Amino acid sequence: DDRISRISSSIRVIPDFPKPGILFQDITTLLLDPKAFKDTIDLFVERYKDKNINVVAGVEARGFIFGPPIALAIGAKFVPMRKPKKLPEYSLEYGTDKMEMHVGAVQPGERAIVVDDLIATGGTLNAAIRLLERVGVTVVECACVIELPELKGRDKLGNKPLFVLVSSA
Ligand code: IMP
Repeated sequence: DDRISRISSSIRVIPDFPKPGILFQDITTLLLDPKAFKDTIDLFVERYKDKNINVVAGVEARGFIFGPPIALAIGAKFVPMRKPKKLPEYSLEYGTDKMEMHVGAVQPGERAIVVDDLIATGGTLNAAIRLLERVGVTVVECACVIELPELKGRDKLGNKPLFVLVSSA
């Protein structure tokens, strides 16, 4: 798929950020290329449009960029999954990987995908899955633009499927 190679080459890699030895994957350059950005959204929409998804849960902060256009295109609601202390009092918090959402944003039995820009260790997506499942939502799949496979984040998702567009060494 030539869409994938365009997406892949639009991602900027920043060496030694935020720490020495880390290759930071920067998706803001993908957003500067309207074709690559549209292709990214289209690939997710093609995958999820006929899967009866009610909820697109986007992980702060870059899941807030990719999630909403996917939600609009597939006719699902968008739910922001927030880091702690950024929501008013009626929020849930779970585990050591902190993640919050509004009580009442989702209903038991709804079907969700969880969207973020990147999976590294999988801790962030794992926290989002646990929070949604705790209130009775079925998490159908996680969707990321980028996976860092060496960190084996998939293993932390249990049997939950993960769909990614680009794998990065
Ligand atoms: P994990 O919890 O270790 O899988 O880390 C994933 C979270 O950290 C996601 O919310 C990402 O946005 C962020 N993250 C980790 N590494 C990078 C990176 O190289 N580029 C952009 N975001 C990253």
